[in-house]
Order: sequence, then C-alpha cells, then structure tokens
Amino acid sequence: MASARTVIIAGAGIGGLTAALTLARAGFDVEIFEEEPVLDEIGAGLQLSPNASRVLLALGLGERLKPHVVAPSEVSIKSSAGKEIARIPLGDLAAQRYGAPYWVIHRADLQSVLIEAVRASPNIRLALNAQVNDFERAADGVKVQGWRDRTDFSDYEPTDGFAFETRGIALIGADGLGSIMRYLVSRSFRRPTGDGELIYSNRTAWRATVPRDAVSAEFREPVVHLWLGRKAHLVHYPIRDGAAINIVAITNFNRNNPEWSKIEGTLAQVLPHYPRADWSERAQKTLAASERWQRYQLFHRSPRRRWGLGPVTLLGDSAHLMLPYLAQGAAMAIEDAAVLADCLSKTPDEPEQALRRYEDERRPRTARVQRTARRNGLIYHLGGRAATARDFVLRRMSGEKLLTRFDWLYDWRPTPDTE
Ligand SMILES: Cc1cc2nc3c(=O)[nH]c(=O)nc-3n(C[C@H](O)[C@H](O)[C@H](O)COP(=O)(O)OP(=O)(O)OC[C@H]3O[C@@H](n4cnc5c(N)ncnc54)[C@H](O)[C@@H]3O)c2cc1C
Repeated sequence: MASARTVIIAGAGIGGLTAALTLARAGFDVEIFEEEPVLDEIGAGLQLSPNASRVLLALGLGERLKPHVVAPSEVSIKSSAGKEIARIPLGDLAAQRYGAPYWVIHRADLQSVLIEAVRASPNIRLALNAQVNDFERAADGVKVQGWRDRTDFSDYEPTDGFAFETRGIALIGADGLGSIMRYLVSRSFRRPTGDGELIYSNRTAWRATVPRDAVSAEFREPVVHLWLGRKAHLVHYPIRDGAAINIVAITNFNRNNPEWSKIEGTLAQVLPHYPRADWSERAQKTLAASERWQRYQLFHRSPRRRWGLGPVTLLGDSAHLMLPYLAQGAAMAIEDAAVLADCLSKTPDEPEQALRRYEDERRPRTARVQRTARRNGLIYHLGGRAATARDFVLRRMSGEKLLTRFDWLYDWRPTPDTE
C-alpha cells in the first residue's frame, strides 16, 4: 500500500496535520492516523506568533485563515488591581519586524482550515478512529501497527480482527501529551532518554469562549490582555474576527486528579482564585462572562536528550510538552513540521539521517522555549515585593524594547524560501 516515499504520522492534532501538509508539499505521500473517531472542534483560543504564522502562510493557508483571525495591536500587561504595567506593541510593528503577523485564532478554526487542506491534498490519507500502538524497524523503513474500527477498512487490509499494519520510510509520533509513541521510542533505547513522567505543575487553566458582548466594550478591541496577580493570572483576547472573546484563567491548584480535566468547571470554582481584595472588578466582571469553564490540569516535561531512533521520531507536545506561559506549544509543533519536511526533502533516500538532523535542529530551541515558559509561569504569579520589583522592571522598558526581547522566538525562519 505504501510508496517508497510514504511518511506515517500518528496523531492529527495541530502538529500532525501541519506536518502532513509540509511533507505533502515537499513531495511525500502521507498516511496520518488519528485515534479519535471525529476531529471534534473543541478547545479555545490560540495565539499564533509570527514564527508559526509564517509557516502557515508558506503553506498557502493565508486566505483561508484570514476570515478567522484577529491581529492584536498589542499585549496590555496589567496588575491584578487593573493598573497597566506595560504594553508590547504587535500589529503592524510585529508584522514588519518579523515579516509575518501575530494572530489569535480559535483552535477549532485553525484545525478546520488544516483539515480542509489535508483532505484536499491527493498525497495525504487521513484515517480516523485509527490508533497507532506499535512499530518495528523494517528493511525498507518502518512497519507500523495499530487498531482501527472494522467499519472503516476501505483502505487497509486488516491483519487480525481490528488490527491494521502499514509501512513507510518514517514514522512521526505527533500524539500529544500522553504520547504512546514517546513511550515506544523510549522502550527502544538502551540508555535512559533523560526524562521521566509527566510533571504536574500544580496549576489549572480554566478556559471559556464567550460572545463579544458578554465583556465590557474596553475588552472587545483587538488587544491581548494579560493580568498578573498573586497565585493567578488571566489572559483574554478577541477571536473569530472579533465576534467572540477567549478567556483563560490560570490558577494555582495542587490537587493532581486525572478526572479534573474531564469535568467542566463553574464560575463559582474560578472566582475564589481572584479575590476582591487583590483583583480589579473589571477582571472579575470579565470572568463572570462565563458560567461554564473547560478545565485543564497543566502538565509539562523536562527537555529530552533524544527524541527518536532509526526511522521514528516525535513532533509537537509528544516531543516537548511545555507550559502555556509563552503561548508556544502549538507554534513549536508548527515549526517542527516545517523543519521535519525540510530535512526529509534534503535527503529523501536517507530518512534516518534526516530525522536525526531534524531532532538536532529542534531540540535546543524547543528546550529553551520549555524553560522560558516555565520561568514565565513563576514570574507571572509573584506576589509582594517580588511582584513590585517585576512591575518596576517592566515599567522602565519601552514597548518596543519589550518586543525585541522576543526576537529570538518570533524572528525564526525554517528555511530561506519561507521568507
Ligand atoms: C491553556 C492552554 C493554552 C494554550 N495556548 C497556546 C497558545 O496560545 N499558543 C500556542 O502555540 N500553544 C498553546 N497551547 C499549547 C497547544 O495547545 C499544544 O501545544 C498543541 O495543541 C499541541 O499539538 P500536538 O499536535 O502536538 O498535540 P495534540 O493537539 O494533543 O494532538 C495529538 C493528537 O494525537 C491523537 N493521538 C493520541 N494518541 C494516538 C495514537 N496512539 N494513535 C493515533 N492518534 C493518537 C490525539 O487524539 C490528538 O488528536 C496551549 C495549551 C494550553 C493547555
């Protein structure tokens, strides 16, 4: 079934879908397996910084994304009491500085644009309800095994009941936070890979999307608002071309309960983290715009020394799960996709070498982003004198100067031809 240029991807999240597109564009055939029966369009807002939007634009997705995105003019950093501490200009300034826009978008909108492009590509086959659960090295690459719903066997020969088997020159594990691929790859190493279990950060993200009229007029403008408080912070910005507002409340919460993320939260659970004594009424009113909240326990991992082995590698959260305080998890997955396709296209006949070059290129950068995101999380939740010192430093810097601190992150380019 597979051609000599077939790349197999486990997982059709933002990372897997983008990788399918970058690989197809580089001339590979792609088989992408997603364990969920439907790619449900859930989730909340995502910030897409220029390092990520550049890749999506190079894929020709600009026109399809434009109806959904908002290009915020700035990030407004405020104290919990509501005083503005600093403004980081984005908008035209960021677009000119980095050669690509800073966007915010609903994850479902991004995902539907990616899926539409994947389905339109004759080189990509997307199989839903298909879980990859093992692989082994084969003479001509990799043999991949998994489980697939019997009702949808049109493309693959079942080898045993619900099982399927396919072959490719490479296998990419883009299977997210609880990655099976990561475990399978680790199992193949003789030496430890340098990472352990998922680390629970003692924080919960509460996310809601509300109609624009649910928040006061001052928060409907295209601005990312970041409120910093003791043991909690709050981020909100308009999405869906301004029709909706994405709100993310991040609070300290030290109970690690696997069921926590599966159950919807309520406003009554969120508000006590934003007490009147510390938080502006404007922030509290913004929170009150939603009664129901999606809850996420926030996990991360330490940077890993090795991502892959032989014809197998990892991409996105499975390779470098990070905390969301730099808004870069999806952006790094999108960058990975661009670099992976570039490396494979340079030496298509030597895929294993290409995967190792991809990993060598991606590891240092994603590790830096993981570390910076973690540090931001500590800085955001400071209280007392430490918070005063943080605010003092931020206030002394001009907006443009603050933006230049992100040059290393936003001014990234996968290859010269994506300029
Ligand atoms: C509160 C919060 C806010 C965030 N904000 C931002 C932001 O503003 N900007 C940003 O860039 N990032 C942000 N992120 C991070 C971002 O959401 C993730 O980093 C990104 O979605 C990871 O994409 P992925 O494709 O690697 O993984 P996932 O999206 O998790 O996709 C993995 C897919 O693999 C499938 N799968 C799993 N196992 C298998 C298997 N064995 N076989 C087949 N399929 C399988 C899953 O069903 C899933 O569809 C945020 C995260 C959080 C929690």
